[in-house]
Amino acid sequence: MPMKKPGKLALPSQDSTIGKFLTQSGTFKDGDLLVNKDGLRIVPQSEEGEAPPIKPLDNNHQLSIDDLDSIKVIGKGNSGTVQLVRHKWTGQFFALKVIQLNIQESIRKQMAQELKISLFTQCQYVVTCYQCFYVNGVISIALEYMDGGSLADFLKAVRTVPEAYLAAICKQVLKGLMYLHHEKRVIHRDLKPSNILINHRGEVKISDFGVSAIISSSSAQRDTFTGTFNYMAPERISGQKHGYMSDIWSLGLVMLECATGNFPYPPRESFYELLEAVVDQPSPSAPSDQFSPEFCSFISACIQKNAADRSSAQTLSVRKFLFASQFCMFFRKHH
Ligand code: ATP
Ligand code: MG
Repeated sequence: MPMKKPGKLALPSQDSTIGKFLTQSGTFKDGDLLVNKDGLRIVPQSEEGEAPPIKPLDNNHQLSIDDLDSIKVIGKGNSGTVQLVRHKWTGQFFALKVIQLNIQESIRKQMAQELKISLFTQCQYVVTCYQCFYVNGVISIALEYMDGGSLADFLKAVRTVPEAYLAAICKQVLKGLMYLHHEKRVIHRDLKPSNILINHRGEVKISDFGVSAIISSSSAQRDTFTGTFNYMAPERISGQKHGYMSDIWSLGLVMLECATGNFPYPPRESFYELLEAVVDQPSPSAPSDQFSPEFCSFISACIQKNAADRSSAQTLSVRKFLFASQFCMFFRKHH
């Protein structure tokens, strides 16, 4: 039997579908009433008709893990993975850091509680932590999503960062450190390129403050903790008392690595070789034939083997090198 030629297919007109009621996140909206594949909910709408974004510490509008749709894995670290997730009801994006620890149930619960307290910081130069969850033996932390990724990702793409950009980045990291050191009176302990995040507005923020401290202080985890020791100050890597100035050493190494494109110490085979290099060898510096005197002296104010010889975040923040960031601000505004 001859096949009948198919008739011309016509797409239904856009207006006649329910699509016109759907927001981008697949939610049907009528005033405060929101309906999507997960059910129905009343979410107060702002004047513009959008669901207001969830704010940290918002008790009336608490973030629940069931309300987060996983989109993709965006990163992997020593302590776990980071996923991009979207809130079903507001369409808001978050980065969900998922940490699986091989420790007792009760300690894990206590850690989630501690994280909740220690991570709630309110500073535009520190990545916001919205909520911590503890489900089925896994700790998940909903963080502000930084769509530019980390300085480590950026460095992989560009290889080296020019001084003017570094100054703009450094200025913001210092503001974050000033907040942590001088206002909150805490040490970050794990400042490194992957813990400095960037977004499309050119904002730079410090992340993972508190996470590493808690993971490394949980005794069961300490033996297996494989976090990088690369950026640790001599006093810290050798197990002595460390303080705010240990973060300043790390900042100096990060900035020097970004400028030269190479980690300031040659690759080492083991932890002990690194320890020996950091403790016994002269501290790294910026080559004066390649970089401005302002940058070189900024680096040397950070990378001093004796912690007392390093400058504080506050003192560093008025250094001449940072004024080179003017160009960067201009660039951001006009492109
Ligand atoms: P560690 O486990 O020692 O902290 P790490 O910093 O490399 O190591 P993660 O903190 O898990 O590991 O981060 C891994 C990667 O995930 C980062 O390099 C970055 O690309 C991405 N990432 C982390 N947090 C966010 C965030 N809030 N927004 C966007 N991307 C993020
Ligand atoms: Mg990190």
